Amino acid sequence: MKNWGRALGVITIGMSIAAMSCTEKKKTYASYELYPVRKGSLVEMEYTPQSTRFMLWSPPADEVRVVLYEEGIGGHPLETIKMQPGEDGTWTVTVDRDLLGKFYTFNVKINDRWLGDTPGINARAVGVNGQRAAIIDWNTTNPEGWESDRRPPLSSPADMMIYEMHHRDFSADSTSGVKHRGKYLALTEHGTMNSDQYLTGIDHLIELGVTHVHLLPSFDYASINETQLDKNLYNWGYDPQNYNVPEGSYATDPYQPAVRIREFKQMVQALHRAGIRVIMDVVYNHTFNVGESNFERTVPGYFYRHNDDGTLANGSGCGNETASERPMMRKFIVESVCYWAQEYHIDGFRFDLMGVHDIETMNSVRKALSDIDPTIVVYGEGWAALAPQYPQDSLAMKKNISRMPDIAAFSDELRDGLCGPVGNKRKGGFLAGISGQEESVKFGVVGGIQHPQLRYEEVNYSQSPWALQPVQMVAYVSCHDGLCLVDRLKAAMPGITDDQLVRLDKLAQTVVFTSQGIPFLYAGEEVMRDKKGEDNSYKSPDSVNAIDWRDKTKNGDLMMYYKRLIDLRKKHPAFRMGDADKVRKHLEFLSVEGDNLVAFQLKDHANGDDWGEIIVAFNSRTLPARLVVPEGKYTVVCKDGNIDIRGLGVLYGTDVMVPAQSALIMYK
Ligand code: CA
Repeated sequence: MKNWGRALGVITIGMSIAAMSCTEKKKTYASYELYPVRKGSLVEMEYTPQSTRFMLWSPPADEVRVVLYEEGIGGHPLETIKMQPGEDGTWTVTVDRDLLGKFYTFNVKINDRWLGDTPGINARAVGVNGQRAAIIDWNTTNPEGWESDRRPPLSSPADMMIYEMHHRDFSADSTSGVKHRGKYLALTEHGTMNSDQYLTGIDHLIELGVTHVHLLPSFDYASINETQLDKNLYNWGYDPQNYNVPEGSYATDPYQPAVRIREFKQMVQALHRAGIRVIMDVVYNHTFNVGESNFERTVPGYFYRHNDDGTLANGSGCGNETASERPMMRKFIVESVCYWAQEYHIDGFRFDLMGVHDIETMNSVRKALSDIDPTIVVYGEGWAALAPQYPQDSLAMKKNISRMPDIAAFSDELRDGLCGPVGNKRKGGFLAGISGQEESVKFGVVGGIQHPQLRYEEVNYSQSPWALQPVQMVAYVSCHDGLCLVDRLKAAMPGITDDQLVRLDKLAQTVVFTSQGIPFLYAGEEVMRDKKGEDNSYKSPDSVNAIDWRDKTKNGDLMMYYKRLIDLRKKHPAFRMGDADKVRKHLEFLSVEGDNLVAFQLKDHANGDDWGEIIVAFNSRTLPARLVVPEGKYTVVCKDGNIDIRGLGVLYGTDVMVPAQSALIMYK
């Protein structure tokens, strides 16, 4: 996440507790930690045709009301109903008539001040722009066959190959040939093609062979006005508004609360039927703003961390940071992911700025999801934007990942070792022929674990291994943040030729897809997408962000390479051992002469592979490199920008040449 577009005013909250001098009966709390914790689920509305029960947790409230509306936006309240204080800081009321189709908000009063309308922190259906919660018939949200929807099989996290995409990037351009451009439903359309009959949409994903689609924020976010969809506004969506509702701008009708829910499920169902699992990008670390947020309008101050002077802490760089360590915030996060996993059949979660959260919360998330299905994956950014207001050793940072079993983090060591430092786009890395990055590349090859041959003191950023298991490391060269691969290579290597660009692009992804970590691909890299050099395209127009599917025609050779690379990994378990001891036993680096050459061997039918010994070499020099290998007759499967597991020829000897700016893979 990187979204520095907004700066928020400083909001002082010190008062909300100190000034709680209170009326006679009101209970006061000396600190947030003393707020009672609500037992059971955080559900805020339970509907039956006979009655609807509303519940809201707000220990400091003096008064709470439910306001009923006919519409999701505009109009006058139908009725305002006073809620009664209940157990554990909750407020409740039951309305004994059929409220189907109505909308509602809560309004909390503290110290003679009404905090303003909110759909609550846990609305599950909302009207346009997420301002009011909706009472809907949930049966109408399930597409046909939803009861029999199942997660596609996944035997090990090591088998994952992730494709990170934004709905508009993927299908907003007219060249996608998709009918529901930029919508959830785009992923349900089969048979879509560009004008040269190359597959697009979901069929493109099937052709490519990825196992998981990772969707950029698709919960309801604030930065797109859902009443102005004709303007084709673009935003990544790192602006959470309602965490437990799908975003409205990707639905065909954001005014009808059931539509976004049903279309989201149709999308999941279509991907599952295609054998592809679905991961959601979740952004619990901050909210769009604070003053108007559902958290702040329900229990002021409680859900956010603060500096000692009472101002908001800002570990997200977006003006605030949430307080995952507080029991009700932790409970909220855990319940929220479980809700998505159960109601929407989501198969994994990518935690934005996971390093803002505390370790205990992440482990609680992992445990709760494992109880539902242990194959649901969790990974995140093991860093924060700025230092969070919480003890460093208790944060879910990359360096602490060994204390979060079965949770993975992105490797910036590998990414920047290959591409160059994130802070200086003109500077290259291994790919650009800069020496000294070899150990960072090797770090990525082993999946961030302890390996006896690595010289950790030479690794970027982390001078020690941080993953206990290779599947705790996500291997990648690009994602939505920063420059995409093509733009990065162009920025770091002025004067790069088209031929070199393709060669280095292939080399980069060969490192990623032969890594023992989890390979991760930014959508469109396979057709050489670019973003016109824009490195923070969070609100850039479609003209920058949308994939131009004519690129698939132009770059058919690259697409073929990516497809076959993915197929290589799929067919050969040696590349995805999934176990640190196996990696240490079977993966051995070969000694090489000179810089910008990394080579390793996967020995002894690694992980049950039918290939006995596999040699992999990465040469980023502009000249061929000589490589000494164990003697034998090798079948070459990847060389000089070509890849084919059926074999590209045979090499004999102890001495082979690795062509310039390319990878070599062969086996015996
Ligand atoms: Ca929205």
